[in-house]
Amino acid sequence: MNVSKVRLPEAVQLEIFKQIGRTGDELNVPVYVIGGYVRDYLLGLPLKKDLDFVVVGDGPAFAKELSKKIKGKKSLSIYKNFGTAMLKTPEYILEFVGARKESYSSDSRKPQVEPGTLEDDLKRRDFTINALAICLNRDCYGELIDPFNGLRDLKDKVLRTPLDPDITFSDDPLRMMRAIRFATRLGFKIHPDTLEAIKKNKERIKIVSPERIVDELNKILLSEKPSTGLKLLDETGLLDFILPEITRLKGVEEIEGKTHKDNFYHTLEVVDNIARMDKQGNLWLRWAALLHDIGKPLTKRYHPKNGWSFHGHELVGAKMVPRIFKRLHMPLGQKMKYVQKLVQLSSRPIALTEENVTDSAIRRLIFDAGEELDDLLTLCEADITTKNPVRYKKYKNNLKQVRKKIVEVEERDRIRNFQPPITGEIIMKTFGIPPSKTVGEIKEAIKEAILEGEIKNDYEEAFELMLQLGKEKGLKPVKSG
Ligand code: ATP
Ligand code: MG
Repeated sequence: MNVSKVRLPEAVQLEIFKQIGRTGDELNVPVYVIGGYVRDYLLGLPLKKDLDFVVVGDGPAFAKELSKKIKGKKSLSIYKNFGTAMLKTPEYILEFVGARKESYSSDSRKPQVEPGTLEDDLKRRDFTINALAICLNRDCYGELIDPFNGLRDLKDKVLRTPLDPDITFSDDPLRMMRAIRFATRLGFKIHPDTLEAIKKNKERIKIVSPERIVDELNKILLSEKPSTGLKLLDETGLLDFILPEITRLKGVEEIEGKTHKDNFYHTLEVVDNIARMDKQGNLWLRWAALLHDIGKPLTKRYHPKNGWSFHGHELVGAKMVPRIFKRLHMPLGQKMKYVQKLVQLSSRPIALTEENVTDSAIRRLIFDAGEELDDLLTLCEADITTKNPVRYKKYKNNLKQVRKKIVEVEERDRIRNFQPPITGEIIMKTFGIPPSKTVGEIKEAIKEAILEGEIKNDYEEAFELMLQLGKEKGLKPVKSG
């Protein structure tokens, strides 16, 4: 086999590599570190917890033997069906697989496997830069195995498959998503032939589970510049299968010389802005940015006088969110509700930025956004993508004013996470009435009065108002005993 002349003993100095090498020597089994570790080491990227190993022999048996030698906390899981094993220590997650050959059938991305050589094993890997192995046994310690010129591709920042890309992607279409994920995260180009093969096999993505697709999509969204990946997903045609709601945002229409912005490229810019602003990596804020304008194609209108409008697109978009989450097998609880809420409120702060923003409008915003207010303001700021410097400055400044006003109103009125001080319970007890529409009406009127600033957000004033509202409805307080 094409063993490169390169020796990298310094790459495998960690005690764990030495221990694994010794285990290989004792069992007389060749063992190599492969995949992400080797790639990231050569790129000078920080060490991750996950390390992948190939043994030319029985992967699980190797892991069992190693586990016996490791002192301290550890847990070993054997995946018999896959012939793999995972050994967890406080420091690392070590994955072991026996070198294998794979053959695929057309309806599944799960191959038939049989034992093979190291070269067979490297052939089944997705990209040349992931098909690098470093030997850990004593007689070849630190030797780099590079049968497909992965080192060259690392230097040239190119992603390409070790074998015919057409077969590689047809066999396991998840690799198309992985290609785009690596291109986005590492800032690599996809080799033209490899890119062509993705375009050709795009429809094969249908045999991949939504969970796997979303896993890759999330990694793209959490990268420094998600637009790189989203553009590639679009260019290859994959996005049409995954999120047609986003490709539908593409295009600019012109009537009577009036155009609207291309909402696809606008969305990509907003997602990139969020990635820049949100250093914590809030995945769901990124999803909100991605989906914030999906209601636009359905609400687009042209008025001869006012030009293009997208009235009500936020609500339409918010209604589309649960269907998308369901289709992609994403969580349907709090996370989905968070995204939905941000989509629905995405234009509200900007709408407030006209001169006459009132206290009550601010109070309503604070009340409606609740816990999500800060993220909503971040999204709103990211949404400012105009290239007109005068307008850009104006919007930014407006938003600054809104933020200031929010602080003022909040300090005064304690509206965030506000629960009306009078509950349904209190209303029912006071008037001695059962649960009914009337109770709801009184409660709602009290909330409105607080948000409108007619009464203070406190128990006394709210109780007073409740008595008055009850009276108007012909209710009398019952004597409490
Ligand atoms: P990271 O851990 O940073 O995501 P990685 O390259 O280590 O990157 P893993 O998913 O841990 O990725 O996989 C380890 C190795 O297994 C990869 O480097 C690659 O060689 C191979 N591999 C993983 N998934 C596939 C796949 N679907 N098709 C072919 N090879 C794969
Ligand atoms: Mg890995």
